[in-house]
Amino acid sequence: MTSKTPLRPLWAGLLLLLALPTLAADGGGGAATWKEQVARISEGADTGARGLAITRRLDALNVPWREEAFEQKEKQGRNLLADLGGKEGAPLLLIGAHYDRVAVGHGATDNASGSAAVLELAARLKARPLTNHRVQIAFWDLEEAGLLGSHAYVTTPNREKPALYVNFDVFGWGDTLWMMSPQADTPLIGALRKASETRKIGFQPGEHYPPTDHLAFLKEEWPAVSFSLVGGTEIDPILAVFAGKTPATPPKVMQVIHSPRDTVAELDDGRVGDALDVIEQGLRDWDAAAH
Ligand SMILES: [Zn+2]
Repeated sequence: MTSKTPLRPLWAGLLLLLALPTLAADGGGGAATWKEQVARISEGADTGARGLAITRRLDALNVPWREEAFEQKEKQGRNLLADLGGKEGAPLLLIGAHYDRVAVGHGATDNASGSAAVLELAARLKARPLTNHRVQIAFWDLEEAGLLGSHAYVTTPNREKPALYVNFDVFGWGDTLWMMSPQADTPLIGALRKASETRKIGFQPGEHYPPTDHLAFLKEEWPAVSFSLVGGTEIDPILAVFAGKTPATPPKVMQVIHSPRDTVAELDDGRVGDALDVIEQGLRDWDAAAH
C-alpha cells in the first residue's frame, strides 16, 4: 500500500517517535531482523526460493557465498556455504542450519527460524570478528530427507574438520535455550550459563535432543552442538515423543512442525534477541579462551 500524499517530515518524525516503544518491545537486538528473514525464507515455495532469500541476505551483508551441489541416496541437493573470514590459519568455527522443508506447511519453525538465527549471528560476527577462529556458515539441503546435506559435507574428501560445529534447528518461540551437547560441562556451556543468567533466559544443556544435522558431524567424531529456542516445559514432552511415548500434553513443537501449522503465525520473537545475545556472548567467551 502506498500513500498518494507523502507525509510531511514533521509528521513522519512524530510517527517514528510513536513507533519507537513498539520497536524496543519486539524481543530486543536482532529479533526484528530475525523475524524479517524468517518471513522471507518461509515465503519461498521450494528449496530454491528459500535459498534465494538466504543468499539475498548474505549479499546485503556483503558476505561472499558459494553453493555446493551434492548427490546422496539418488537425490540432488545444494548446500550454501559462506566465509566470514578470520585470522589465517586459525581453527574453524562452523555455524549452520538446514534450510529445506517438508512438503506440508511453510517450514517457518522447521527451519526458517534456525536459518535466520544463523544469518543474524553471521551479521554480528562479520561486524565484530572473533579473535582466535575463522568462521564459516552453512545452510544444509535435504535434512528432511535424512540429514543428507550435512552428511555430504562432512564426508567430502579433505574437508577441514572444524574446531566446533554449531547447529540451529527450531528456534521459534519460548523462554528456554535448549542445547544439545555430548559433554555435560565444557567451557562453552559455562560461558552460556553465565550469559543466560545475565539475560534471565532459561538454559538447558543436555545430550538428549531430536535428530538433526549435528548428528552427521558427531558420526564422524567431529565436535558439534545444536541449539533450539522453545518453551522450557516442552523439552521433556518433546523427548518423550522422540522416545516413542505419548505425553499427556503434546508439546507445541510437535504440533507445529511437519504440519500445515508451520507458518510464521506460530512464531514469537519475545526472547529471540536475548537468546541470540546469549549464544553470541558464549561463542565470544569460548573463542577468547581458545588461544
Ligand atoms: Zn523437520
